[in-house]
Amino acid sequence: MGNKIGKVITITGPMFSGKTSRLIELLERHMRAGRKVALFKPNIDFRYSENEVTSHNGIKMNAIRSPIGLDSRDSIKGKIKGINIIGFDEVQFWKESSHIDDFIEDLAFSGKTIYCSALNRDHFGKPFAITKKILGISDEIYSLTAVCSKCGEDATFTQRINDGKPYFGAIIKIGGKGLYEPRCRNCYVKPTRIIHF
Ligand SMILES: [Zn+2]
Repeated sequence: MGNKIGKVITITGPMFSGKTSRLIELLERHMRAGRKVALFKPNIDFRYSENEVTSHNGIKMNAIRSPIGLDSRDSIKGKIKGINIIGFDEVQFWKESSHIDDFIEDLAFSGKTIYCSALNRDHFGKPFAITKKILGISDEIYSLTAVCSKCGEDATFTQRINDGKPYFGAIIKIGGKGLYEPRCRNCYVKPTRIIHF
């Protein structure tokens, strides 16, 4: 738990796998140790609260809403002076053009400890580009599973549901239970063709 050597710790998995709860738990350990912590969330997530990160099971922590482009670096830098423990919730929502992975790597090289939560796959079953990059620069990875909504096995996929059926619409749709279900590989329904955007 020392702060001298920076590192990147990433929590990944499908929706409802407890990523945000784990992120909050890990950050709270540092707070209990008397360390200052800053938690950032993408400013597109209006799901539960403006200035908090909330897990699906209701655990909360104060968070700073951040832009998700290249311009977010300066505002983040301004908010982490003297803070060595930094969290990024839902890091897959950052734009690829933000180069958030390079930024996070630089922060780690400067001695900071970074915690990211990152959704593993979109509802087409494909990995998020940012998540792949963040996993690639991570020193430690927590790979979490949810409980398959169909059979109860470990779920690593997120199925989007509309009218009770698998649905393959636009990639980003913020939502919780009802819109999305965790599924294991056997129960996950793949899209029948590639959709271009
Ligand atoms: Zn299943």
